[in-house]
Amino acid sequence: MIIQMKQKATSQEIKEVLEYFKSRGLSYKDASSDSVKLYGIIGDTTMVTDDDVYKFKAVENLTRISVPYKKASKVFHPSKTIIDVNGVKIGGDKFVIMAGPCAVESKEQLFSIAEDVCVAGADIVRGGAYKPRTSPYAFQGLGVEGLDILKEAKEKYNVPIVTEIYSAELIPLFLEKGVDIFQVGARNMQNYDLLKALGKIDKPVMLKRGMDATIEEWLLAAEYILAGGNDKVILCERGIKTFDTYTRNCLDIQAVLAIKQLSHLPIIVDPSHACGRYDMIEDLAKAALVVGADGIIVEVHNHPELALSDGKQSLKPDKFAHMVKELEKISTVVGKKI
Ligand code: PEP
Ligand code: MN
Repeated sequence: MIIQMKQKATSQEIKEVLEYFKSRGLSYKDASSDSVKLYGIIGDTTMVTDDDVYKFKAVENLTRISVPYKKASKVFHPSKTIIDVNGVKIGGDKFVIMAGPCAVESKEQLFSIAEDVCVAGADIVRGGAYKPRTSPYAFQGLGVEGLDILKEAKEKYNVPIVTEIYSAELIPLFLEKGVDIFQVGARNMQNYDLLKALGKIDKPVMLKRGMDATIEEWLLAAEYILAGGNDKVILCERGIKTFDTYTRNCLDIQAVLAIKQLSHLPIIVDPSHACGRYDMIEDLAKAALVVGADGIIVEVHNHPELALSDGKQSLKPDKFAHMVKELEKISTVVGKKI
């Protein structure tokens, strides 16, 4: 961290700032010249927030030269993390495809969709049992019954399952029901109690980006899980809010590139929640593959018009199968396996 002091700051005011850093176990180097009062702070400054520094009158500006998310950062972990989910490796040379309905609605519905997506080439089946909905009157998910249906589908189709968790209290139940990937939804990216609790388990966690979260906030949320000791974190870009209303959100495709520059963690793209409309999913999935994402998570429904949630952004099984075929063609060009 480099601190520039105000030109008019007195030596007593500057001393107060430097004493503060000493009290936090850090040292400093005076790099001032006649025209600028500059100090380099030496040591691990992650626990010092910007506010901690700016509260001193003498401080003009601070520049961080190391990132605040040490465990998520590529600097301290240059090789890519590959997460093995029951034999499906996320983060390697395979473009992993997760697919299924937004919500588990019944055994018939989930089984029919799971069968179709598995035959078409999905590696992991998704389906929400606990649904955090914008409206309290909207379908909230089948809860434990939904988890039981997912467990049965996992056994029947021999496929890992991913489902959303929104409360730390649900962790024992999710473990008991054999959930393979614990999805943290966009609305809970900053649910720090949940993140801390997920840091204590040994299960993959897919952390979706908050709809208004910066890349740094997202990586700091991942850091909560990693700091707790769970190193199986998968990031998921699912679109961010913009001023536009034509699509539900805006897929921040460049976030995939940013994550690859900054972090060793795998990155998945969710085109369904990004655009909110089925007719853009295939092309956005292609974009995800081309920019180097480690996979996609896509909503698929056998009767989208009757879906209890997110029907508008769900592919029918035949369209999903078509998309996988198209992705296969591109994968050979970009050097990924499908
Ligand atoms: C979902 O996956 O169905 C979901 C609610 O996603 P998000 O948290 O990205 O809105
Ligand atoms: Mn959904």
